[in-house]
Amino acid sequence: MDYEIIIAGGGMVGAALACLLGQVGKQVAVLEAAVPPAFSVDDPFDNRVSALSRASQRLLEQAGAWDNVLKMRASPYEAMQVWDATGSGMIRFEAAEIGEPDLGHIVENRVLQLALLTTLKRYPSVEVLCPARLSGFELSQQQIQVHLTDGSCLSAQLLVGADGAQSVVRSLAELPYEVSDYAQKAVVCTVYTALPHLETAWQRFQTTGPVAFLPLPDPYACSIVWTLPADQADAALLWDEVRFQRELGQALDFRLGEIISIGERAAFPLRGLHVQSYVCERVALLGDAAHTIHPLAGQGVNLGFKDAQALAELIVANESIDYGSLKLLRRYERARRGDNLLTQKAMEGFSLLFGNTLAPWQLLRNQGLTTVNHLSRLKYQLAKRAMGL
Ligand SMILES: Cc1cc2nc3c(=O)[nH]c(=O)nc-3n(C[C@H](O)[C@H](O)[C@H](O)COP(=O)(O)OP(=O)(O)OC[C@H]3O[C@@H](n4cnc5c(N)ncnc54)[C@H](O)[C@@H]3O)c2cc1C
Repeated sequence: MDYEIIIAGGGMVGAALACLLGQVGKQVAVLEAAVPPAFSVDDPFDNRVSALSRASQRLLEQAGAWDNVLKMRASPYEAMQVWDATGSGMIRFEAAEIGEPDLGHIVENRVLQLALLTTLKRYPSVEVLCPARLSGFELSQQQIQVHLTDGSCLSAQLLVGADGAQSVVRSLAELPYEVSDYAQKAVVCTVYTALPHLETAWQRFQTTGPVAFLPLPDPYACSIVWTLPADQADAALLWDEVRFQRELGQALDFRLGEIISIGERAAFPLRGLHVQSYVCERVALLGDAAHTIHPLAGQGVNLGFKDAQALAELIVANESIDYGSLKLLRRYERARRGDNLLTQKAMEGFSLLFGNTLAPWQLLRNQGLTTVNHLSRLKYQLAKRAMGL
């Protein structure tokens, strides 16, 4: 056999799993289809970022990659304020209230992926093949043979599909999944505002969807995620800059003043996906390949990192077992399915609750936000849960 484990997809989740396995000397191949562009501190901020929880930070520390993230750039945020556009309901979380230095970090996805891929160079048992695209696989009794688009073939005990929401591994393995089309798109871009963000993540819920301003290392720069019905998001991409800045400023109720300038805009269709089974003989899915969720609380990659940690821990704890055995892989699925499903359904619930235009629901959510804001113990628990602690 060429390797013990082949990971298809060297994105954030696949590369994190490779680091955890490389640390303990597992023979791993990472297949990554796209070469990530190199990073320079002078580069403008990317429009794809992730809000990383404390649990994810700890996993990246454990994987040896967090220092590499900090060497490029990351933005700790000390507070988060969420409010409803239809009333006076508001909740504010502060790191100091729960005895933490910050609530998490905003990190560009490219920075995170590059930090992990750089870390992998320290682990000689891990080979990163990039660009390399998986195109097929076949099972034999003792191993799985993985085919690449360049015609080459590799073998291992286990193939991990960390190849994202359009997972090829998932479709080749014929693992069925359920999909909910949210009929929304998330518009993303970098913006500069008249007022400083104060290291705070700002999120305002409108009935069309939430708009979030996530603080970047420059005190006047934020990365925005603006959820809109799909047709309105498409229209927003076509507005001239002046109109986009005005409408976006209004969407946040000008909490950070006027929008001074914007970067390149992009929109991503939002849909929830969950595989019915995360595993089959010699194959396991993790990250977006197994589940995608609504980004309103920024939990997607945080869940993917927990998947990577659970699978790595099982592999390390079961040295003498065939890693492709269904018995072992089912334990991984059992460890992760409940948390992923609960988070996915909670996000769908919030999206429905805050999208409801009926007066009783508006009253309920506004009173709910205000009440929880005053219940310090419950608020403390919510903050700890969001941080993955
Ligand atoms: C607008 C928006 C905002 C978000 N904000 C947050 C946030 O704040 N916090 C958060 O936690 N999550 C957030 N998410 C979710 C997060 O982006 C995803 O959960 C995360 O990108 C999943 O990582 P992944 O590594 O599983 O998949 P991906 O990031 O999709 O990586 C998959 C990798 O596999 C490679 N690949 C694909 N096919 C093949 C193949 N056949 N062979 C080899 N390689 C292949 C790809 O090139 C890619 O590098 C957000 C999502 C959206 C849409």
